Amino acid sequence: MSKKKKALITGISGQDGAYLARLLIKKGYNVIGGIRYDTRLKPWRLEELGVHNKIKLIPFELLDEKKINQVIKKEKFNEIYNLAAQSFVDKSFLNPVYTNNVNALGVMRILESIRNFSKKTKFYQASSSEMFGNVKSKYFDEKTSFQPISPYAVSKLNAHWMINLYRDAYGLFCCSGILFNHESPLRSDEYVSKKIISELIKIKHKKSKNLILGNIYAERDWGYADDYVEAMWKMLQQKKPEDYVISSGMINSVKTFINKASNYLGFDLKWTGSGLNEKGIDSATDRVIIKIDKKFFRPIDIQYKHGKSDKAKKNLNWKPKTNFDNLVKLICDAELKKYK
Ligand code: NAP
Repeated sequence: MSKKKKALITGISGQDGAYLARLLIKKGYNVIGGIRYDTRLKPWRLEELGVHNKIKLIPFELLDEKKINQVIKKEKFNEIYNLAAQSFVDKSFLNPVYTNNVNALGVMRILESIRNFSKKTKFYQASSSEMFGNVKSKYFDEKTSFQPISPYAVSKLNAHWMINLYRDAYGLFCCSGILFNHESPLRSDEYVSKKIISELIKIKHKKSKNLILGNIYAERDWGYADDYVEAMWKMLQQKKPEDYVISSGMINSVKTFINKASNYLGFDLKWTGSGLNEKGIDSATDRVIIKIDKKFFRPIDIQYKHGKSDKAKKNLNWKPKTNFDNLVKLICDAELKKYK
């Protein structure tokens, strides 16, 4: 009988951590989840997916080199998925040093530990489409150059290049998934997709008066997190470690997201004004329910082009199963359930 594979998922309390944990459990893995020492939240996402009792949780902090070495040396994982990060672009402008320490040096700590104590461990790194920044290109794929424009993106790019270096210089099986935005009912409320839907539902239930946003003309390539974690797993099952762009290939503005969600939730939305004076009005009540505020604009923002995942389609036989309309609907349905 073949032995169960053992995988460590860092950042298991996050959105992707929960979906990946569910996938690996389904595939018969022994899943160990790293949670950071000062985490204040219960791993509610694991509970939501019904996998919290099937995982061993261990303290794992990307700033703690000693602990990283101890765990990797002792456990000799078959696979490590590094999903842990200071993952908020906006917060990275407020805490650039911390962001780099976690997102860039944290990855180096793991790579060094694998190199020294567990050379056969396969390593997946959560890179990000934010690394492309404002590079001029029709679409982004593995050959596109990078021009990061936030401390978050710079930190992720640092880790990304380290992965390339450790692969070439030391022959480690390590690779990055350059993932475009992916959402789900498990996304934190701070992210725009979740903020739009949960706020609109609160407005519907008279628990909030309006939804206040920044740049509604920013465009994103949005996919569904549950589809994207499958690509992560597939990357580590290949013969050769390589980096892959994972995207939906569909581009939509924040305003389109609002229109789809409000329509699905039963609002008849009218838009008036422009710039900071642009407003969304609920036709049924004639009330302004959407406003724009300068404070929600980023210091510099990416105007996205879409990602091209042809390489993942060809080599990994991966493509997204959930389109934009269904993604918006499934998050709305999950949020509506909370009110029932
Ligand atoms: P998330 O929900 O914000 O989860 C981030 C996880 O990292 C949380 O479990 C968090 O723990 C943990 N963490 C933060 N600082 C840590 C530290 N110092 N040591 C150990 N763990 C730490 O993010 P996600 O959406 O699941 O994304 C997963 C990964 O993919 C992240 O690296 C993110 O940057 C990257 N990514 C995400 C997207 C996307 O659209 N979702 C796109 C591209 C790349 P707490 O729960 O305690 O805060």
